Amino acid sequence: MADAAGAGTVIVGAGPAGLLLAHLLLQAKPKPHFLPVRVFEARNDPRTPLPLYKERQYCVGLSARGQDGIKRVDGLWDEVEKRGMPSSQFVLHTGNRAIALKRNPGKPSLLINQRALAATLVSELESRYSKDDLEVNFNTRCERVDFKSRTVSFNGKSENPVSYNLLVGADGARSAVRNEFITQRGFDYKQTNMPYTFKVLYVPRPPELSEEAVHAFRVTKDDAVDENGKQSGGFKLPFTGTASKTSLRFSCFPTPGDGMSVLIEWSPGTTPTELLSIKSAGELKTYIEKYMPPLKVPVEAAEVFINQRPTSSMKVYCSKFHDAGGKAVLIGDAAHAMSNALGQGCNSSLQDVVTLSQCLHEVEDLTKALERYTEKQTREDHAAAYLSEFAFPQAKWVLPFFYLGNIAQPALGKVLPPSILAPPIQSLCSETLTPYSEIVRIHKRWLSFVEITNKMAASKGPDS
Ligand SMILES: Cc1cc2nc3c(=O)[nH]c(=O)nc-3n(C[C@H](O)[C@H](O)[C@H](O)COP(=O)(O)OP(=O)(O)OC[C@H]3O[C@@H](n4cnc5c(N)ncnc54)[C@H](O)[C@@H]3O)c2cc1C
Repeated sequence: MADAAGAGTVIVGAGPAGLLLAHLLLQAKPKPHFLPVRVFEARNDPRTPLPLYKERQYCVGLSARGQDGIKRVDGLWDEVEKRGMPSSQFVLHTGNRAIALKRNPGKPSLLINQRALAATLVSELESRYSKDDLEVNFNTRCERVDFKSRTVSFNGKSENPVSYNLLVGADGARSAVRNEFITQRGFDYKQTNMPYTFKVLYVPRPPELSEEAVHAFRVTKDDAVDENGKQSGGFKLPFTGTASKTSLRFSCFPTPGDGMSVLIEWSPGTTPTELLSIKSAGELKTYIEKYMPPLKVPVEAAEVFINQRPTSSMKVYCSKFHDAGGKAVLIGDAAHAMSNALGQGCNSSLQDVVTLSQCLHEVEDLTKALERYTEKQTREDHAAAYLSEFAFPQAKWVLPFFYLGNIAQPALGKVLPPSILAPPIQSLCSETLTPYSEIVRIHKRWLSFVEITNKMAASKGPDS
């Protein structure tokens, strides 16, 4: 089929990956058959103001790789930076102690709310490009893709399917575009539910929690029940162990304006029934302030939290990222949603965008460009997913070695060469552009060890 005039590029999904791709494609002055660039997003416009506490989705940490992607668009980083908070520390609170797992203060991550990031990327797109070259549609959900006729059908849009010369599935872990890939031969696909569920609470930042750090707390709960509905016991002191049947994790991300976005997570079999059955703001306030005394919960924030449904995420594996016909491609979570333990999901997604836009720019033939993208990015993204899964030990007996190693590394790293003591996985992932596949190679022994001990711990049950 010849390229249709005016069919251009269709990007499904206006998350960070889809929107950054629109920027990079348009900045590179694309070949005429890639124009116009049309973005279709199922949700509403992220610039629509929402009542305080309502717009607070979870925060992501944009580290070296994400920043590298955004900085490739002239002046874009300056705008994004204004909406987030720089952070170079991760503080683990355990009992009365706070262990600062320091990172390099010269290379902070930017903590930014998902919606604020999308809003900035859209505003900048619309201010830079004319309607002839760019169209961003909200409240428009992709329902179906037809690779044969090169068309996409949307609800909320006209009944006529939209044609494309290049189709990009940037529609997240539950991608509708990917559904059409799954029907193709030679496309191996696997999805797995991630072993945790979360809700987000937005509160004013307590002064004792520094605005430069992400603060992580783990508390055991007296309302947690196991799979058999059995109560798991009374309140215990917070502990640093992991995968306890009774643990709730609180990760606190400072936000601009002295706020704090608190991600509250729990694992399967530990459903905090008391927390989830709370119906009044007063009860929630008492509950949170009992277990997380520094947090003070305004009534409006409590109400938003109570009405929010718990979210669970999933991991996605695709053996390749382009379709057999060579006109459609997957980027970001649609191609490789991964555990958020290392904070690399968004960062790796923005690197997909860098690679894809380079391939499209450098390789004349579209099919070959997409093949090259798949070849480069599957290796990297599969490595990123492996790192996210096995960088952190789950077995309790391995944890002290992990924490000791992290605490001693900065001092030892100054005297020992990297060939003897390599920088930690977290630092290599978040502070450098070292390919993920290279990080796997450098830390192969540790990763294999954690893979084995994590699997053993999982088979023995949550208290091992
Ligand atoms: C709790 C949590 C914390 C995280 N923290 C970090 C972190 O610190 N650092 C990090 O790098 N990553 C983090 N991540 C991962 C990160 O959020 C994702 O990897 C990132 O958002 C992927 O971007 P994306 O653009 O590919 O997909 P998404 O952000 O999921 O965007 C996809 C877009 O497509 C839209 N869409 C979906 N279906 C359709 C459809 N059928 N039609 C049209 N539009 C559609 C969606 O509404 C959405 O706007 C975290 C994830 C979670 C859950």
